[in-house]
Amino acid sequence: MSKSSQNRRQFLKNTGKAGIALATAPILSSWNFSSNEFQQQALPYAYNALEPFIDALTMEIHYTKHAATYAKNVADACTAEKVNTDTTSLRTLLANISKFSAKMRNNAGGHFNHEFFWQIMKPSPATVPQNELAEAINKTFGSFTAFQTAFSDAAKARFGSGWAWLIVKADGQLAVCSTANQDNPLMDIAEMKGEPIIGLDVWEHAYYLKYQNKRPDYINNWWNLVNWELANKHFVSFNKK
Ligand code: MN
Repeated sequence: MSKSSQNRRQFLKNTGKAGIALATAPILSSWNFSSNEFQQQALPYAYNALEPFIDALTMEIHYTKHAATYAKNVADACTAEKVNTDTTSLRTLLANISKFSAKMRNNAGGHFNHEFFWQIMKPSPATVPQNELAEAINKTFGSFTAFQTAFSDAAKARFGSGWAWLIVKADGQLAVCSTANQDNPLMDIAEMKGEPIIGLDVWEHAYYLKYQNKRPDYINNWWNLVNWELANKHFVSFNKK
């Protein structure tokens, strides 16, 4: 028996046992963070690597306390709600999140969002969108500057805690959106669904030590840190589907 059909049989067996129909395919399965994507991965740079725009203490607390807790809690929720993390991808779980508890929604979202966030940043100097993504941004928004304004406005306007996103929708179109709390555009409950290309954490824990109430300054400075090379890979990876 091939590994994939074995996995499928095991998957059906496990989900069948739990009475949960996780049939919906993930929007994109051509790339993953890792084979053990339910665990917190190593930060791809030092805590102080994003200074002066994000300070080392904020990064350390954000990674070792906030994000680590989401990773622990999603694992606990998977155990409690009988999701087999060896056979279920995080994306499949997110695409079916309405079938699970609020704890699962908050922590599966929180875990995915932070793993995504660490990767989509890199130490300065600032770069700009590249290749296919640069072309699509210009076509959709008119210019990189116009796109930055739309994205920054979404980030500033998110009331309370949440995220701003650039996504590519199933029809291949780019869009800017924001989500509350730890929701994200991969969830079946999202108002606007799509594959995240870049995402920005606007919870106060992401910026308060350095910026206090000045969320707009944090957002403006964040543009120095976007990993556009990876953003383009996300975009190209989706469009090949
Ligand atoms: Mn956060």
